[in-house]
Amino acid sequence: MKSHYQVVIIGGGIVGTSILYHLTKFGWKDVLLIERDELTSGSTWHAAGGFHAQNDDPTIASLQGYTIRLYKEIEAESGQNVGMHMTGGVSLATTPERWEMLKAEKSRFQTMNMETHLVTPQEILEMCPIVDLKNVIGGLYDEFEGYMDPHGTTHAYSGAARKHGGKIVLKNRVLEMKQNPDGQWSVMTEQGTIIAQHVVNAAGLWARKVGNMVGVNLPVTPMQHHYLVTKDIPELIALNREIASVTDLEGFTYLQPDRKGVLLGVYERNPRHWKTEGADWEYGMTLLPTDIDRISPELEIGFNRFPVLQNVGIRKWVNGAFTFTPDGNPLVGPVPGLKNYWVACGCMGGFSQGGAIGLTLANWMMHGDPGYDIFGMDIARYGSFASNDFYLKAKTAQFYARRFVISYPNEELPAGRPLKMSPNYDALKDVGALYGVTWGMETPQYFTPGQMDFVEHPTLRRPNAFGFVEAEVVSTREAAGMFESAVYARYEVSGAAAEKWLNYLVASKLPKVGRVKLAPMLKPNGNLMGDLTISRLADDRFWIIASYYLQEWHMRWFNDHLPASGVAIKNLSDNWMGFALSGPCSRELMSRLVDVDMSNASFPFLHCREMDVVSTNALVTRISLTGELGYEINVPVTHQRALYAALMDAGKELGLVNIGNRALDSLRLEKSYGIWNAEFTQGYTPGMSYLRNFIVYDKGDFIGRDAALKEKETGANQTLVTLRVDAIDAEPSPYSPVKHAGKVVGFVTSSAYGHYVKQSLALAYVDNDALNDPFTVDVIGDPRPCVILKEPSYDPKGEKMRM
Ligand SMILES: Cc1cc2nc3c(=O)[nH]c(=O)nc-3n(C[C@H](O)[C@H](O)[C@H](O)COP(=O)(O)OP(=O)(O)OC[C@H]3O[C@@H](n4cnc5c(N)ncnc54)[C@H](O)[C@@H]3O)c2cc1C
Repeated sequence: MKSHYQVVIIGGGIVGTSILYHLTKFGWKDVLLIERDELTSGSTWHAAGGFHAQNDDPTIASLQGYTIRLYKEIEAESGQNVGMHMTGGVSLATTPERWEMLKAEKSRFQTMNMETHLVTPQEILEMCPIVDLKNVIGGLYDEFEGYMDPHGTTHAYSGAARKHGGKIVLKNRVLEMKQNPDGQWSVMTEQGTIIAQHVVNAAGLWARKVGNMVGVNLPVTPMQHHYLVTKDIPELIALNREIASVTDLEGFTYLQPDRKGVLLGVYERNPRHWKTEGADWEYGMTLLPTDIDRISPELEIGFNRFPVLQNVGIRKWVNGAFTFTPDGNPLVGPVPGLKNYWVACGCMGGFSQGGAIGLTLANWMMHGDPGYDIFGMDIARYGSFASNDFYLKAKTAQFYARRFVISYPNEELPAGRPLKMSPNYDALKDVGALYGVTWGMETPQYFTPGQMDFVEHPTLRRPNAFGFVEAEVVSTREAAGMFESAVYARYEVSGAAAEKWLNYLVASKLPKVGRVKLAPMLKPNGNLMGDLTISRLADDRFWIIASYYLQEWHMRWFNDHLPASGVAIKNLSDNWMGFALSGPCSRELMSRLVDVDMSNASFPFLHCREMDVVSTNALVTRISLTGELGYEINVPVTHQRALYAALMDAGKELGLVNIGNRALDSLRLEKSYGIWNAEFTQGYTPGMSYLRNFIVYDKGDFIGRDAALKEKETGANQTLVTLRVDAIDAEPSPYSPVKHAGKVVGFVTSSAYGHYVKQSLALAYVDNDALNDPFTVDVIGDPRPCVILKEPSYDPKGEKMRM
């Protein structure tokens, strides 16, 4: 062991060894992996080793595909057998709702380039002759599934990494860490201190403790997980081939072959956490005591689904621990605020995701970018609220218990709520607000005035809340609607160098004083990094409005690019709130609350002004996401409740209503407006959408300019379009494929029923060379005709908001 390394990776599980492999393969050779005990001695050694490519997030799905394809490569490079069994896997549908869901999933997987197959009960029986077909309607089969030998796979990564120059030291616990004034890390280990430029926390079950060493509290906790392995089963001995893996979704169990027996794993509805603070340092390759009583309800279902289990001996019971995050995806990337401290932990599917994490983290460390849109795995998708133990336990328990349970698009799950609330929470609840949650903040989805006992039923189709949303949309178009903008992020940028810095940060021109602009923000590779709204309050003072849930992500980016002096950036998101008010009556309403001339001539579209709104000093901007005349009013949180009362009071006779997220979606789809995480992501470029119109290529240098100029010349491959769908009783969900003659030529980014125009609408990216073809779009797995609208279906000239 030398005294200096470029990179120290802490942890020799499937994740740490994959990172060592990728870094050294891509050219960084001075990399040391430190392992407390032996390789695999965390969760990895006793994993069931199952793998699959399927994931709701298309980028993660494609990266899981990368992980699976990599196994042959590391086996060849290392000479170490990875014990790969590509058995194929089938998920069972035993209810009509599940069957519909599987059909919809199959269709979405086509967008992700994954070919899965709906199979009949008889086909399932051929793949796995020991399954009882009671209630089985069919299944979804994926041939790209199977299981690995955890030990062999980890040693294949490490063996290949060693050949690329990577170093590994075993039996050497990292004890402490500190960052030196020169930015390098002192890593104190049992075998001495190492100086490293970069540190990677891949410490699995101990990741939280290793985070604590540098003052970071990671939202990750171990949980217990059981499986059993049987002795040989006569039916399988007689069979001259391996059976397919089977997941009984309604039964909470998965089964995979294991020699001539099977392995049956359980995702019980009554899960248990284990050592939330991280495993004890002494914890070795030992199993936790089995708790068969606790998992017996699910075991019973499993033993009925696979009746041979009732007559065969159990070779071993395994109760082990592995780590969970609130949404079940890993935590990857640079920790905000800590230079060159990287995490790669919280991984519950190491055999599907280990390669993906190694690839993207290595890209990130070496080139400053993960190379893919991995927001779904990025540590910066969480804020500090997520590391609270009560919240973390509630969310991870919910995730674990619902691992195989259908999640409906209109469902709002209860765990960890309410966490953050606006001062209006109760007032809005009193008038029928039904809340959803964004980054811990409660936010109304819609209102049920006069029907306080209304219950919404989970469904893939149009929900029974349809009528409430319709009423909000119509009132906004004909009178006024008010959306509480608690889920906006607000930043103030000020200082002598603020203009120069922002000009470099965003691709549009900056607004003049008193004006507002939509400003795309790009990465150096030309992909999107934000769709900011910038207001200029003075020569040297700006406000940025962006999405609330992107705060850590955007602040990491801002801070990474901040000059040493001349610019101050303040995150005001939890200190300021407000309302987005829009509709033809909104000017009259505002005029009743301010002592300012609100006429169009005095306060036109895309202008901003600080003014007193009744007793509150507010920043008011003239913009709207609904396409109506509108104002966004921003006030300190302490004034939010009083402002609400004043607005409601003044708006009563003008027909003002409260509106929620769902109405907003309907209204924006009628205007063909995109939003972040749907139409705009770091996976897309501005050339694909109307955001290209906001780029000012000749304004001087800005981040991503070269790439944007190149795209301007070559054009993008896909275009954002609005589809009018001939839908029956449901809109297409995100990532539903758009097809021409059965071939996928695009995919949906978001959809809503346009209540005012009475059309089913979707935004979609479609291949440029297919734009003139007739299309269908899949709705719950079935193709429906659709057409591209040449212009937004409501107020195409945009006259209403400029009135
Ligand atoms: C019962 C069970 C069944 C499972 N089934 C599957 C499955 O079918 N498919 C699947 O994909 N996944 C499965 N998993 C999950 C899988 O095991 C994990 O996703 C994976 O092992 C995580 O790997 P890791 O490298 O992140 O963490 P770990 O394997 O926990 O590795 C972390 C390593 O860091 C080392 N370390 C920690 N702190 C220090 C320190 N201070 N200094 C030095 N070294 C340190 C530890 O000793 C350990 O070796 C299962 C897990 C269990 C327990």
